[in-house]
Amino acid sequence: MDFTEITGFRVRPVVVPLRRPLRTASGEIPASPLLLIDVTTEGRVTGNSYVFAYTESALPAMVAIAAELEHDLIGRSASPEARLDRLHARFRLLGLPGLLGMVISGVEMALWDALGKRLGAGVASLLGGEPVAVPAYDSFGMVNPAKDAEQLRRSVEAGFRGVKIKLGYPDVEDDLDVVRWARKVVGANTELMVDYNQSLRTQEAERRIERLRDLDVAWIEEPIAAEDLAGHSRLRRLAGGKLQSGENWWFPSGFQTAPARGCERLGDARPGEGRRLHRLAGSCAASRDRLHSREQPYARRGQCSRARRDAHAALARISRYRRTGSAEPAPSC
Ligand SMILES: [Mg+2]
Repeated sequence: MDFTEITGFRVRPVVVPLRRPLRTASGEIPASPLLLIDVTTEGRVTGNSYVFAYTESALPAMVAIAAELEHDLIGRSASPEARLDRLHARFRLLGLPGLLGMVISGVEMALWDALGKRLGAGVASLLGGEPVAVPAYDSFGMVNPAKDAEQLRRSVEAGFRGVKIKLGYPDVEDDLDVVRWARKVVGANTELMVDYNQSLRTQEAERRIERLRDLDVAWIEEPIAAEDLAGHSRLRRLAGGKLQSGENWWFPSGFQTAPARGCERLGDARPGEGRRLHRLAGSCAASRDRLHSREQPYARRGQCSRARRDAHAALARISRYRRTGSAEPAPSC
């Protein structure tokens, strides 16, 4: 198949209000800072993607990085893999992890989206999969038992089969109390996950995982620093395999160097290298491990539908976005 040329490239930084500001043990996220990416190809087909920037302060740097990528895109073929290979080569010495990798991955996603639109096919199909319904969980921050019961109940009533809450209170007893409270609220038939957002030291994580073992928790996410692979490997055994990590591993290479091939539980895959990550997801599926995706519409066979739904929900909310000082015109969506 011949690829068309890229004729336009635009990024827009926006801050989307969150109905529920996200409180974690590693800081609060009051709104969702996003970089919206549009790549237009011949025939005026525009692929869209967005990248979650974690903090609004990262957005200006991401806009500057995107401007730097423009001459690697305009006038070149819209092949996602060819563009990614070229950008990999260009930044080999600098390395991709960080803001650069996030922006490049957003560009790649937009290119896949453009290709799908041009061919009238979902990205899951382009990668050899098929769009299927996938279970979704609702993600909460650090909850307040005095205020949040109704919201958790509403999530279950809305059809979510799982609810995730953040832990990492100064006292382990508070962690346990909150888990018991949340279990009571969501009931026995809803999966309950917990996320420490890398806030613990290994010894403290061991202590808390021991205490959590008797509670009905589906997984314990990122208890310690993401780069501490040896620590994760130890904790995974302690947690009986119910350890969720990977949200902060970069690109397929990050997953390949993860402990024991790292595939027991992979969380919220970071962006990058759609087709290669797709293959990795295939190897996880073969070993009955689970890959959950937040930012990768094509990370796994069947993940596309949820990611697209997320993206559309985010874009719908952008009508209430707050401008971030970019010279770009206001989004029309
Ligand atoms: Mg997480």
